[in-house]
Amino acid sequence: MTERDRQIKIVDKGRNIRLFLARTTALVEEGHRRHGTSATATAALGRVMTAAVMMGSDLKGAQDALTIRIRGDGPAGTIIATADTRGGVRGLISDPTADLPEIVPGKLAVGQLVGSVGFLEVVKDLGLKQPFTGRIELVSGEIAEDIAQYFYSSEQIPALVSLGVLVETDLSVRSAGGLMVQAMPEADDQLLQLIEKNIMNSASISHLMDAHTTLEDIVPIILAGIEYEIIDDMDLNFLCKCSRKRLLQVLMGLSAEERKELQQEEKIEVVCNFCQQKYLYSPEELDAEKN
Ligand SMILES: [Zn+2]
Repeated sequence: MTERDRQIKIVDKGRNIRLFLARTTALVEEGHRRHGTSATATAALGRVMTAAVMMGSDLKGAQDALTIRIRGDGPAGTIIATADTRGGVRGLISDPTADLPEIVPGKLAVGQLVGSVGFLEVVKDLGLKQPFTGRIELVSGEIAEDIAQYFYSSEQIPALVSLGVLVETDLSVRSAGGLMVQAMPEADDQLLQLIEKNIMNSASISHLMDAHTTLEDIVPIILAGIEYEIIDDMDLNFLCKCSRKRLLQVLMGLSAEERKELQQEEKIEVVCNFCQQKYLYSPEELDAEKN
């Protein structure tokens, strides 16, 4: 049996690099199920959610949150994923049904679905007045390359990023996961080059996830020739922060005129964009004096 979704963090003995390794099969499947995504859209959304959950886990404050927003010129439209610091992540894609033929059998056309002209934005909400925002032009729309470029140009961190989703013919997710290697400022270049070579010589990250039942079996492949230590282990989940109360607040933020129009209905239905959860409200609940 393959393990549940989880992430481990690893450092090499000399503390020159950090490796984040995440299995995200169940949470990507949950995203697919909730949004009804096509095979290629599942892969695109899954890669973005996997990157977000790894990056979110690196924020310090318990209430901090990290959002990745990607807008390319492809049919997918905008893809957004938001993660907390404890392994919870949610995501959405503008057109979940957009799809393209595989480039070669087994290779989904994620870069074309996203598009290579556009931007990637990372927003870190650290509980300050202004969130930190970094923005780059897309490199390829394949997501992993774009995230690596973000680290390099926005945070001046040399990084290796791999993200992958394997989709079955029935559109369910067979396996998904990601790895992220970040070099510390004083790190030896050769160490990152050695890891890059290890990654090039191994199967893709989604196939590694598929072939190995635990993350601990994958680390020695990525870090072959390097002494290391696992320093953190956390469970990962598809988790949306919406609630009946929160979405009512959104409705109350509409103009009096817009609310009046909604109140013509017997029941007012609101669907959360991030998880497709439906909430029903009675017209009375939208009365301003009751809130
Ligand atoms: Zn929701």
